[in-house]
Amino acid sequence: MRYLSTRGHPERRRFCEILLEGLAPDGGLYLPERYPQVDAATLANWRKLSYHELAFELLSLYIDDIPAADLKAICAKTYTAEVFGTAEIVPLRELEDGVYLEALSNGPTLAFKDMAMQLLGNLFEYELGRRGEELNILGATSGDTGSAAEYAMRGKQGVRVFMTSPDGRMSPFQQAQMFSLQDPNIHNLAVAGVFDDCQDIVKAVSNDLDFKRKYRIGTVNSINWARLLAQVVYYFAGYFQATGSNDRQVSFTVPSGNFGNVCAGHVARMMGLPIRTLVVATNENDVLDEFFRTGVYRVRSAADTHETSSPSMDISKASNFERFVFDLVGRDAVKTRALFEGDLGPKGRFDLSDDPAFSQATDRFGFASSRSTHADRLATIRDTDRRFATLIDTHTADGLKAAREHLSPGVPMVVLETALPIKFAETIVEALGRSPDRPARFNGIEALPRRVVKLPADVGAVKAYIAQHCD
Ligand SMILES: *Cc1c(COP(=O)(O)O)cnc(C)c1O
Repeated sequence: MRYLSTRGHPERRRFCEILLEGLAPDGGLYLPERYPQVDAATLANWRKLSYHELAFELLSLYIDDIPAADLKAICAKTYTAEVFGTAEIVPLRELEDGVYLEALSNGPTLAFKDMAMQLLGNLFEYELGRRGEELNILGATSGDTGSAAEYAMRGKQGVRVFMTSPDGRMSPFQQAQMFSLQDPNIHNLAVAGVFDDCQDIVKAVSNDLDFKRKYRIGTVNSINWARLLAQVVYYFAGYFQATGSNDRQVSFTVPSGNFGNVCAGHVARMMGLPIRTLVVATNENDVLDEFFRTGVYRVRSAADTHETSSPSMDISKASNFERFVFDLVGRDAVKTRALFEGDLGPKGRFDLSDDPAFSQATDRFGFASSRSTHADRLATIRDTDRRFATLIDTHTADGLKAAREHLSPGVPMVVLETALPIKFAETIVEALGRSPDRPARFNGIEALPRRVVKLPADVGAVKAYIAQHCD
């Protein structure tokens, strides 16, 4: 399997060459040259597999530069009941007739990002070891991504993590999760500023090519192809659990921000998994809902980006969206480049409403969308607690509300549960007047010793810290 860039760069690359990278050299995103097709016989075989075996079979279709035995061992070591809480790894439970929750958030940091990040940690360690190289991961987080990256990379050979976060702005639980890690290869940098300041610093450091090379700086952001690929696996696992045979269709609803998670659903569907509809659920930051309703993709300004009670979906633009648009316009790289560079760059928007391709988003690719508000979130959390004695988090609530707007008779609807409620306790208290339970292993984490340094919102200060801690 070779990988191409959505903007037409002539080079074709292999999996391990793009494993440690983000954007392609021309600013595009990597995608496989074609989607491997899964036929009925293969689906029947896969249905019998455990999660890590399924992961191995699926990843093998996309990775041909890691020996099979090694990839198998990496999958087996990643997807264990010890790390993810159950033998099923992503257990499905029926909420009401035909509506299911697929639990993706029982990993170390209680959000679905662990599903991919835990694999990435093991792949990085393997590949760096093979090359005899080291990597310093520099990131910016407002919560879920940073903690998932740190828990995936802690104690890994050859990897250090430098994670910037806005000082005092993450939830107390998220701060405790990250800052209580004592592993010497994990560095928490609390920056005196907001999330955008952290992102600007990371961009500035990455743009200093000499510094980047000298200190072997890398990232683990959501455009990484390996992360997306790891997420494809749980669409298959969810499908098998929701159906008794492979002639059934299933729909999925996905709480969405950067379009990484639902893009994995798109890949699963392109491979031939019988998915009817992929429902994109957004919060008040409805860039994606607007596109699927109107054909206009309009990036929001910072002032126009809302801070909501489902904060992991607070985006101004969806960084993985270009992957889907590339497929939507018939894999035309010239057209994709024109949309993202020619239109989006200078104008902050592009408009496909008059393009015949746009109707394919629904007709051929199965997409639908809905948007939720804070009031919807509270109502859904209350209703789910009252009628089903089930506590859901704010992001999953956005998903459940959207799912109910796109049900079709006889087609199971699987809502992806992207976080546990304890991560967003304040809103649960607002909805229900009580705090969510926390898994026993998190009792008392707020009182643990903390490993975090405070830095000014200054590129030089962050560079100096990295330089000091790299040898
Ligand atoms: C990251 C995240 C999302 C959004 O996922 P994307 O892949 O960016 O669309 C939704 N919910 C939770 C809890 C998250 O952490």
